[in-house]
Amino acid sequence: MERITVFDTTLRDGEQSPGCSMNVAEKLRMAHQLDRLGVDVIEAGFPISSEGDFAAVRAIAGVVRRPIIAGLARACAKDIERAWEALRGAARPRIHVFLATSDIHLKYKLRISREQCLEQAVDAVRLAKSFCDDVEFSPEDATRTDPVFLCQVVEAVVAAGATTVNIPDTVGFTTPVEFGELIRTIREKVRGIEKVTISAHCHNDLGLAVANSFAAIDAGARQVECTINGIGERAGNASLEEIVMAMRVRPDRLAYETEVVSEQLYPASQLLSEVTGVAVQPNKAIIGRNAFAHEAGIHQDGMLKNPLTYEIMTPQSVGVPDSKLVLGKHSGRHALGLRCEQLGHQFDRHQLDEVYRHFVVLADRIKQVEDHHLVELIATIHETAADDRRQSGPIPLAIPTLAVAGPEKSREHSKRLVPLSRSGSTGLRSLPLNPIAERHGDAEDYLWGV
Ligand SMILES: [Zn+2]
Repeated sequence: MERITVFDTTLRDGEQSPGCSMNVAEKLRMAHQLDRLGVDVIEAGFPISSEGDFAAVRAIAGVVRRPIIAGLARACAKDIERAWEALRGAARPRIHVFLATSDIHLKYKLRISREQCLEQAVDAVRLAKSFCDDVEFSPEDATRTDPVFLCQVVEAVVAAGATTVNIPDTVGFTTPVEFGELIRTIREKVRGIEKVTISAHCHNDLGLAVANSFAAIDAGARQVECTINGIGERAGNASLEEIVMAMRVRPDRLAYETEVVSEQLYPASQLLSEVTGVAVQPNKAIIGRNAFAHEAGIHQDGMLKNPLTYEIMTPQSVGVPDSKLVLGKHSGRHALGLRCEQLGHQFDRHQLDEVYRHFVVLADRIKQVEDHHLVELIATIHETAADDRRQSGPIPLAIPTLAVAGPEKSREHSKRLVPLSRSGSTGLRSLPLNPIAERHGDAEDYLWGV
């Protein structure tokens, strides 16, 4: 099995798409989830583009230490210096420099000649290399660039020290066979190419982003750039979950592997939707609401007899919560914590205690707590915590009760929660723990007041 590097650009290309912008705190939450998901590279942003993006890249570089953290820069000194400023605290920084190479971009956008383009690309890579060993170069609009000139640029940036050469189908124009041929041409013609990693970055304007990515991989690319839920400029980028699961389900034809923890795909998708407010289309492959729904009678009959009749992968393998696990007031903290994780939220014990207290109050009123109730509850926690941080420095998480409570109760619970030690009077202390929680090794730690 050939190992493929997964380069996630949800926080850069994805974030650039309409309606998907994220603030620093939101990007940080997503970055932690991408870390849990096991991606190799997180492109955290485009530091020169705004103060907020600079702050987000710097914050992520400071706390997310396992994956490579990349920052994007145009091929000019001020962008590269700014990117380095944001990345310098990272355990494994990467500067990602790009410059358009197609004649149409050179003539109308950049107004420079091919010679100037070549020189600028080399200068930019040299400057980036002076800061950081790990330098990626992207010839923007590569698929509409004269292949002879493209090979010249790639050869020059490899000689200048680039360690990854990314070939972007910036406008989503190429087809699988054509893109595979382009990657092969680069491997055959460019001197020194064997020393660097070739990467594919495909857009989905014709719905071919994932197919084109696989064509590139088959032709020798060993890094793939993609996003959660396939978000990205215009029609989006290649979808990370589709690439990962295609490899997992069809190793006979796609004999590649990644370090991605597939059970974290659905949580990542859910968290992204929640953070951006952009819903996933119901029929989206792998993580859409209907991806594992079987409505037709004949399908249901087959599924009941043997799931393999219509199911090529299990919902559990991509982290879709087991719908048979109903959350109600008798559910324990372990079950609640597990469902929160499946929805993309990891809590430490103290936070989970806080969530649990409010969950119990809610469950008492509405009997069955659905995922959307839980997402709403958690969102309220984050908002309240952020408000409180703004007003009076760090304080414990506080959760107002949801609107589903009666009006008088809402008022009562919209006040900040009292600290744990004073909450005994609510009577919740005596609630029995769910058997699931009791079987859990950490059961004692989940007890009230511990
Ligand atoms: Zn792109």
